[in-house]
Amino acid sequence: MTPAAAVRAATPRDVADLLRALHRAEFGAYVVGGAVRDVIAGRTPTDWDLATDATPDQMRSLFPSARYENRFGTVGVPTGDGVVREITTFRADSESSDARRPDSVTFLPRIEGDLARRDFTINAIAYGLARGASQRADPVADGAIIDPHGGIADLERGVLRTVGDPADRFREDALRMLRAIRFVARFDLALDEVTAAAIKRHAALAGSLSGERIGAEINGILAAPHPARALQLAAEIDILAAVAPSLASEWNSDVGRRVEAVGDAEGADAPDPLGRMCELVAPIDDDDDVVALLESWRQPRATIAAVGQLRALDREVDAAERRADLGQSDGVALRITAAATTGDPRDAARQIRRRIAAGRARSGSAMLLTACQEADAMQVPASLADLAIGGDQLVAHLGRTPGPWVATTLARLLGDVAHHRVANVERDLLAWCVRIAADGDPEHIA
Ligand code: ATP
Ligand code: MG
Repeated sequence: MTPAAAVRAATPRDVADLLRALHRAEFGAYVVGGAVRDVIAGRTPTDWDLATDATPDQMRSLFPSARYENRFGTVGVPTGDGVVREITTFRADSESSDARRPDSVTFLPRIEGDLARRDFTINAIAYGLARGASQRADPVADGAIIDPHGGIADLERGVLRTVGDPADRFREDALRMLRAIRFVARFDLALDEVTAAAIKRHAALAGSLSGERIGAEINGILAAPHPARALQLAAEIDILAAVAPSLASEWNSDVGRRVEAVGDAEGADAPDPLGRMCELVAPIDDDDDVVALLESWRQPRATIAAVGQLRALDREVDAAERRADLGQSDGVALRITAAATTGDPRDAARQIRRRIAAGRARSGSAMLLTACQEADAMQVPASLADLAIGGDQLVAHLGRTPGPWVATTLARLLGDVAHHRVANVERDLLAWCVRIAADGDPEHIA
């Protein structure tokens, strides 16, 4: 299928209707950017953006339900089922005084000018009809690809390249350097040499980006199918040092590959953004440094907490694997540790699978994994809440004053239940406790 035919076939009906309405009103009407790129690359687009020479006010009269999306005059048109399509007037960004956002925009008459302001050639492809095209023409059936910067050829040979001089484009907007890494990770592209050299020269500019925008790009890189080469590249061309100095100084060439191996699309645990984040920050030893980095990226509190828990669990799994290497494999105990660490016993098996995928598991891991997975399948008790009795019943039955012994005894009970030494029913558990209390070792009496 030609690129034009692919876009024609993929254009959703509501987008086609918007293009036709613009065309009937004698404006230029195009789909542009990510959607065109994704379709040509054989992917399913997430959102469809349109571009036109109609001004925001003209769009508002054409589409009465439309609303302004931002101060640059992008208009959002609700098309039903909660879908809002964004239409932007062809525009040029003016100089940026802070390498972040343009100071103002100028509207332009033609799509070519609009494509010239876009970041990468693969993002600067449009499909549609220009102003003044015959009213008998249909913007979907009769549209044409507009690709002045060779984006289709770059997609085909797998290269990411800026539109225009890369140094200028990165000085205008430092975020583009991180977007470059994200697109490399998304489409498994190579970075054009001149573009890569310009990033290396200007990488420090990314240090002034807001933590929120950096964090969003990092998450995008981790969610992409091919983060390995992209992350290694980010380290090599110094962009990593600009946004994560504590990580860049500890970086090693295994990290990218490990990140990609965890939550791989083929595997049982995909997607696994938390697992990938943990692999990414694994070179940093100090938990406080990890928290500081994730906070600087404005990661949600829950994410930061979960990463901390998984790092703690990983150390436990490592110790359990060492014991397994010595012939003391105990998956049931590891599940209890996992439940106490993250709240979910299934994290024991999950973490072993991550370590195996990343190639950093010890030889005892296979046995341990089997035991954990079997216990998961049988829902073997792993936390105190799973026990058929609680502390109050224990205190009442033994007639002793409450104290630290209650928690110790319950923990012991849980271990004994999980290892099938006693049945998880109230009567048996209470009898078991009496023996524990009398002798300390019920197995001798049983
Ligand atoms: P995604 O699938 O991640 O949404 P996208 O290409 O649609 O990818 P957006 O951030 O939604 O990316 O931006 C839409 C389009 O706007 C891009 O394809 C690109 O043409 C242009 N664009 C976005 N951000 C920039 C930027 N910082 N500099 C120049 N052009 C940009
Ligand atoms: Mg988009």
